[in-house]
Amino acid sequence: MTIKVFLAEEEIPRQWYNLAADLPTPLQPPLGPDGNPVGPEMLAPVFPMNLIEQEVSQERWIDIPDGVLELLYRWRPSPLHRAVHLEQALNTPAKIYYKNESISPAGSHKPNTAVAQAWYNKEFGIKKLTTETGAGQWGSALSFACSLIGLECKVFMVRISFDQKPMRKLMMQAWGGHCVASPSEETAAGREILAKHPDTPGSLGIAISEAVEQAVSDESGETRYSLGSVLNHVMLHQTIIGLEAKKQLAKIGESKVDVVIGCAGGGSNFAGLAFPFINDKINGAQIEVIPVEPTSCPTMTRAPFAYDHGDVANMTPLLPMHTLGHQFIPPPIHAGGLRYHGMAPLVSQTIVEGLCAPRAIHQVECYEAALTFAKTEGIIAAPETSHAIAAAIQEADKAREEGKEKTILFNLSGHGLMDLNGYQLYFNNALTDYALPEEEIQKSLDTIKNYPQPSVAKTGKW
Ligand SMILES: *Cc1c(COP(=O)(O)O)cnc(C)c1O
Repeated sequence: MTIKVFLAEEEIPRQWYNLAADLPTPLQPPLGPDGNPVGPEMLAPVFPMNLIEQEVSQERWIDIPDGVLELLYRWRPSPLHRAVHLEQALNTPAKIYYKNESISPAGSHKPNTAVAQAWYNKEFGIKKLTTETGAGQWGSALSFACSLIGLECKVFMVRISFDQKPMRKLMMQAWGGHCVASPSEETAAGREILAKHPDTPGSLGIAISEAVEQAVSDESGETRYSLGSVLNHVMLHQTIIGLEAKKQLAKIGESKVDVVIGCAGGGSNFAGLAFPFINDKINGAQIEVIPVEPTSCPTMTRAPFAYDHGDVANMTPLLPMHTLGHQFIPPPIHAGGLRYHGMAPLVSQTIVEGLCAPRAIHQVECYEAALTFAKTEGIIAAPETSHAIAAAIQEADKAREEGKEKTILFNLSGHGLMDLNGYQLYFNNALTDYALPEEEIQKSLDTIKNYPQPSVAKTGKW
């Protein structure tokens, strides 16, 4: 029995898939502070024009430049695994496949977009990228990408993670990235917060504000900002995951997938695996598509589809998305990458349309699933990824109860070797399940209730 499927380098997909071209109900535009749509030129101080063009593109297929492919070849194509040992342990008639994105140098799917963004910035004449990072996964992926291509990389890392997670910081340093704790003295936004709250633990919102400010205030014009999820061009770059998976499934004669699963923080690894399959679904295929989030940060399962900012400081345009409100501070669960208040507009639109069915799972069940996976398949997954594993196990259990042979595919978005402290808390019984009270969600949503409303349009086909 085949348990790993590889593609040769020359079999790598040469185009990314852009779901925006096929959405049955079109994506609504980002809005500026005046409530009018934001044009490409307004984004020019923040992103290079070649990426802005991708952000607004309606082309179905976008060529991957040879220069980007050369960078991706360092670890791609990534293997597709059949989780036979997990299947046996679960005694399920289902076949479980997973795409292994943990084998990238930074340990997750994030380098797929990091190398593409670094390449396009370099092409555009940019010398330096700024970004923010929470737990450090994105900061290390972008540092890695910049080191390959010869760009300076500056990372604003949320203070509390900077102090508590020194290993990711060292990874950034090894790749030549320059990581500072946020808030910092380097920006007006940082100084203002430090003056008021010298002991603040920081937040992703503050770090975004600092990174954007530093990019747009560089008078040489040679600095831009980079974001690791949420935006359309990031979803696009990640579709190489699903496109490879399709080729791999075809190679072993697997003609039909029944369930596609990914964990979703900003939505990029889920979109990367799922969008090529959602294309099939739009064209008539029967596929269940499940993005999975933590019960404690229920953006897709309990929050409305609304216009909201991507950051706390209102630096970003208003995006049409599922959102808990940009001032929402999720409880400290250990899947740092899933603690975002919003969801990618493209993913949100597929939820509105009914093309995917989001699910929320408690963290204790996720750690249990991750340990079952570690003891059968061997890989210790990232806490974020454990949400996808838990949903795959739920589906495999359902298949056993229903006596159905199903094919399940999930994305193994990253390994957890840098995040073992979450496992430690689990072993010490120090993790609890936390369902967010409805009042807390409402309180947070009150802060955006006067914003423009997107239309919640759908065809009703799904
Ligand atoms: C960042 C991260 C995520 C969440 O981000 P998405 O944009 O939703 O994919 C999930 N898994 C891992 C391993 C991550 O590093």
